[in-house]
Order: sequence, then structure tokens, then C-alpha cells
Amino acid sequence: MVIGCDSHSKIKTFNMKKTTQLYEGKAKKVFLTDDSNLVIQEFKDDATAFNNKKKGTIAEKGIVNNAVSCKLFAMLEENGIRTHLVEKLSDREMLCRRLDIIKVEVVVRNIAAGSLVKRYGFAEGTVLERPIVEFYLKDDDLDDPLMNEFHAVALGVATLEELAVLKQRAEAINALLRKFFAERKLKLVDFKLEFGRHNNEILLGDEISPDTCRFWDLETNEKMDKDRFRFDLGSVEDAYSEVQRRVLDLD
Ligand code: UDP
Repeated sequence: MVIGCDSHSKIKTFNMKKTTQLYEGKAKKVFLTDDSNLVIQEFKDDATAFNNKKKGTIAEKGIVNNAVSCKLFAMLEENGIRTHLVEKLSDREMLCRRLDIIKVEVVVRNIAAGSLVKRYGFAEGTVLERPIVEFYLKDDDLDDPLMNEFHAVALGVATLEELAVLKQRAEAINALLRKFFAERKLKLVDFKLEFGRHNNEILLGDEISPDTCRFWDLETNEKMDKDRFRFDLGSVEDAYSEVQRRVLDLD
């Protein structure tokens, strides 16, 4: 049983329970609750990469990603970024405001890696003078193609005004996260954000975790994120739990 109170809107979360399953994604399930404004995200251990071509499980990943996401969303809220987090309910469950998800994945990059290296020929590890913000269409059937504002508006997934908010919000979040991770001896290489509409507001949704970010150790540059799973680098669980340890300031 959880008794909680949300800081902005005084949501009563007394004994909040899952009702119908709304959706099952690659890494999470989302459930309705008795309150039509609230949903519960349940984090799974299932891992996928390369748009579902590689599948597996990472033991306790759901617990790590829930803990890390809740801590980061709470930190962002404390710094004026509105998110869907209401509160952490259990090891794997996060109580969230229900969002109408905007079908745009917003990627922010501080250091060249992944598809930036493949697409544009940057050397991996190149520090970008100014962070790059990219939009991708959230559509698995199309392999989440890279798009610009013109595509997004033509597709009707967001308005120009909303896209401007996403870009500005992504840059503000990046500044807060970079500082937070630098203090914990991690380089924030790049990450993906999702946003949604809720009562005429745009809130940050989804998760921020080693599944959706690249983290390199500040001193050794060791990869401490889903790239260890993507490229069979080994010690995947150890990397996830080390990120959790640093984010939660354990020890
Ligand atoms: N990312 C994600 N989900 C996606 C695509 C990317 O969470 O569907 C994250 C990824 O973990 C990385 C960043 O966004 O931290 C940039 O990913 P990139 O475009 O380099 O693609 P990838 O190499 O992950 O396919």
C-alpha cells in the first residue's frame, strides 16, 4: 500500500492498483488505474535492439530502469521540468500521469556514437561543440526514420509550436542531466526522450535509463549502457547496476 501526494496537483495515490493492460511495449507494460488520469508503467527485463532484430533479457533490468528513471524524473521536476512521474509504487512500477504520446522520438547528442557515426562519418567519441537535437518518427514498422520539422508537421504528428517546445525542453533536460551524470563520473553521450500531451501541457514521458541513454565512464570511457547488450560486450547486468548505484548515490 502506498500513500502519496503529488507535488503539483495533489493527486491522491492511496492504494493505487493496476486495472486493464493498455499496452505492452518492448521494455514496459502500461496499465490503466481507477483514476482515468493515471497509468502504471511496469518495467520488464526484456531487451531488444536493432528494432527487434536482437532479443534477450537482462536480469533485474526492469528494477534498475524504474529506480533510475524515477530518480532522474524527480530531479528534473525539482529543476522545473514537468514530467509524467507521480511516484515510484514498487520495484518495477511507476505511477504516471496518462499522456497522449507525441509520435516523435527526440534524441540529444553530446558525443558522437551510434547512428551519428554511421550516418555522417563522425569518429566515435568526437565531442560535439554544441549538442545535436534530432527528431525521429516513432513508428517501428518504418524503423523510426530520422525526420525534420517539415516531415513531422506534414505527417500530423506534432505542430511547429510543439516541436519548438520539444527542442527547447530537450536542451534544458540535457543541461541538467549532463551535470547530474558528471557529478557521478559518467559521460552522457546521447539519449532519447519522449513527450506527451496532458491537460493542455506537454510533459516528459517514458523513461530515462541505460536502455535509452549512452553512458561512458568519465575516466575509462567504458560503455555502461545497452550497447553492452547490442554488441555482446559482456557484463551487461553489472553495467546496469553500477549506473543504478551511481545515480542513487549508493555507498
Ligand atoms: N535510442 C532509444 N530508442 C530508440 C533509438 C535510440 O532509446 O528507438 C537511444 C539510444 O539508446 C541512444 C540514443 O537514443 O542512447 C541515440 O541512438 P542512435 O540514433 O545512435 O541509434 P542506435 O545506435 O541506438 O540504433
